[in-house]
Amino acid sequence: MAFIDELSLHMKAGRGGDGVVRWLHEKFKEYGGPSGGDGGRGGDIYAKGVRDSWLLARYRHKIEFLAEDGAPGENQSKHGRNGEDLYIEFPVGSIITNRQTGDVFRVDAPDQTVLLLKGGRGGLGNEHFKASTNVAPTESTKGKAGEESDFDIEVEIIASAGLIGLPNAGKSSLLNALTRADAKVGSYEFTTLEPNLGDLYGHILADIPGLIEGASEGKGLGHKFLRHIRRTKVLLHCISLENAITAEAAGELGASGLEQIYSTVRKELETFDPELGAKEEIILLTKSDLLSPGEAARKAAGVSAWKGKKIFVVSIFDADAMKELSNGLVAMLN
Ligand code: GDP
Ligand code: MG
Repeated sequence: MAFIDELSLHMKAGRGGDGVVRWLHEKFKEYGGPSGGDGGRGGDIYAKGVRDSWLLARYRHKIEFLAEDGAPGENQSKHGRNGEDLYIEFPVGSIITNRQTGDVFRVDAPDQTVLLLKGGRGGLGNEHFKASTNVAPTESTKGKAGEESDFDIEVEIIASAGLIGLPNAGKSSLLNALTRADAKVGSYEFTTLEPNLGDLYGHILADIPGLIEGASEGKGLGHKFLRHIRRTKVLLHCISLENAITAEAAGELGASGLEQIYSTVRKELETFDPELGAKEEIILLTKSDLLSPGEAARKAAGVSAWKGKKIFVVSIFDADAMKELSNGLVAMLN
């Protein structure tokens, strides 16, 4: 199923039921008093959080959501039935904007409910207008319309860790190797046009599509998807050692090649969101199978910006390294 993280929906809360004009029919009395009941209130519309990032796809062909109308009042002063409230499920991490009022609602936890639209009040029956000066009122009022609006929904996936890095750094491959997420892998830019999620022993890892230089200015696709990692605990910054080899071949020093790649992505990150830039970061040097073991470690040690940061040298073909990474991540995220 396609992953959808943006959607617009029209919603309308229930209309209040009308008040009615009715008369009591009592034995031995020619004229009874007024007994028209009030209308029921229209159903409200609530958003309800559910832990399912893919859920919006369900609403792809949905045109509008309607809550139930209230029923009209009845005789013997009976109140009309209230319209049932409508609970619409949204993925945890949804940001719901009322396009008409500008109100923004967040759904942050499973089962959390948020009132989006209020149903209309029921109308008043003629019993309501009874007074000493008016013993036979023939007035009643109509139910009020429910609130109605267009909503824009955006989903921020709340992942524990986000894989970042240039295209081809090996992010999707790592996600697959760590979680069997079945993310698409390819040796060209932007294989990943949608964020892929995987489950690592209860922790969600998100594979974020490639950052490119200038992405934060709206070139490229990186910017739009970066919001999914805004709330992660840890960033896993993937840097391909393959790129370092290429940089070396172009006459640059190995370490400075890595440093350059690193700072390109960092710059993007910090331009996009300084808060994101302040998150804990772990360096994953990928595709280590393309270098001799000693070489990879030497290159990693040469980058001063990584002082104090945890560094893993990994390859999807190295089972021991993958196990060490997996254990290290779980320990960190627990
Ligand atoms: P992404 O763009 O960062 O998601 O990178 P991908 O996971 O799509 O990988 C890009 C290319 O690198 C693919 O052709 C992968 O097969 C290859 N690749 C990924 N990990 C490794 C690795 O550990 N070793 C080697 N030799 N190639 C890898
Ligand atoms: Mg990818």
